[in-house]
Amino acid sequence: MDFNLNEPQKMLQRAAREFAAKSVKPRAAEIDHSDRFPFDLAEAMGQLGYRGLPYPARYGGTEAGYVALTLVLEQICQASMTVAAILHVNTVAEEAVFRFGNEEQKEKLLTPLAEGKRLGGIAFTEAETGSDPKAITTRSQKSGDGYIINGQKQFVAMAPAVNLLLLFTRHEGAGLNAFIADTASPGFAIREPCATMGLRGLGTAVVYLDDVPVPKQNRLGKEGQGFDILLEVMSIARLGVAIEAVATAQAALELSLDYAQQRRAQGKPLAKLPTTQWHLAEMATRIEAARWLTYRTAFLRDQGTSIRYESSLAKLFASQAAVEVARMAMQVHGSYGTMKTLPVERLYRDAKMTEMYVGISEIQRNIIASHLLKGK
Ligand SMILES: Cc1cc2nc3c(=O)[nH]c(=O)nc-3n(C[C@H](O)[C@H](O)[C@H](O)COP(=O)(O)OP(=O)(O)OC[C@H]3O[C@@H](n4cnc5c(N)ncnc54)[C@H](O)[C@@H]3O)c2cc1C
Repeated sequence: MDFNLNEPQKMLQRAAREFAAKSVKPRAAEIDHSDRFPFDLAEAMGQLGYRGLPYPARYGGTEAGYVALTLVLEQICQASMTVAAILHVNTVAEEAVFRFGNEEQKEKLLTPLAEGKRLGGIAFTEAETGSDPKAITTRSQKSGDGYIINGQKQFVAMAPAVNLLLLFTRHEGAGLNAFIADTASPGFAIREPCATMGLRGLGTAVVYLDDVPVPKQNRLGKEGQGFDILLEVMSIARLGVAIEAVATAQAALELSLDYAQQRRAQGKPLAKLPTTQWHLAEMATRIEAARWLTYRTAFLRDQGTSIRYESSLAKLFASQAAVEVARMAMQVHGSYGTMKTLPVERLYRDAKMTEMYVGISEIQRNIIASHLLKGK
């Protein structure tokens, strides 16, 4: 077992840390308060090559791999979960084209995404279902040389910015279909924004699809293969959320270490109190465990292994760790932690999001248990 990062990975990690410190951290509070999507940072990440990290150069990627993606997400997320989420949601659409697209689709759809020229999103959640994609009601019907899509999607992240949307529909009653739909097509309408407590500024919104035409060349995989595609790409989505949870917890620990040394109680720094030290030690232990579980998941993906099971382990554990660590950070900060002027309050809200989006913890437990019990 080699737990060391190689030189290119270390260089990428350093570069992402610098980008996060210079360009993302100074914007984090404003993105959260204004709840406005940071178009400029999405573009900057494209220019840096971060939007195509795992994919081959012939499709516009940088061939750096999933561990590299994880390292970059971790650095950016320590500054802002919203900005990191832009990168990871885009990767989910890319992953679908890379794993299930034909050669022409990879050239036409993956390349502009990986080059950062277009932004990808995903839409499976609907008003009546998030955890049970088999209950999707948005319909795709054959029409001429393509399809017509009708329905509504709930909680579509980056709705005002996405150009190519990985869209899941029910196909004429039989199974699900997966499409890459161009959001400039007629019939696409962003309705109400979803004002969520965390991940603010991600542009999450309700999207209406009224007679949206999608050419048959934009259907991924076979007719009715959508459910399989969703299961597969969600493992990359879970990897992304797992590392976001680790990074948010790490940011909370670092703020707590600083605060505990500055703030005094009973005539000495908080850091001298055994209860504060207990909190700091608990935080660090959970973060390290979550980090290595997540890194290993990314490593397995780089080896070409399916990570459907491991990504659920990582997301479940890391999101629980993030919520607990953020709670402890708040405790270390006392009432000042609750103030909107300090970042701990944002981390506390963002940490909770990791237990919710891309599959709630109950669903992760279902996936893990069914893997354990398979064939038993
Ligand atoms: C900021 C944000 C961004 C998002 N971005 C996207 C996006 O880009 N694209 C997209 O498609 N979706 C997105 N989502 C949606 C998100 O993935 C879903 O909300 C999530 O999967 C949960 O679905 P739900 O809210 O419908 O919960 P429900 O399915 O209604 O579940 C509610 C509760 O019921 C219980 N429950 C439900 N099913 C089970 C079960 N099988 N076993 C045990 N308990 C169960 C759980 O306690 C669960 O928390 C986003 C959400 C947020 C908040």
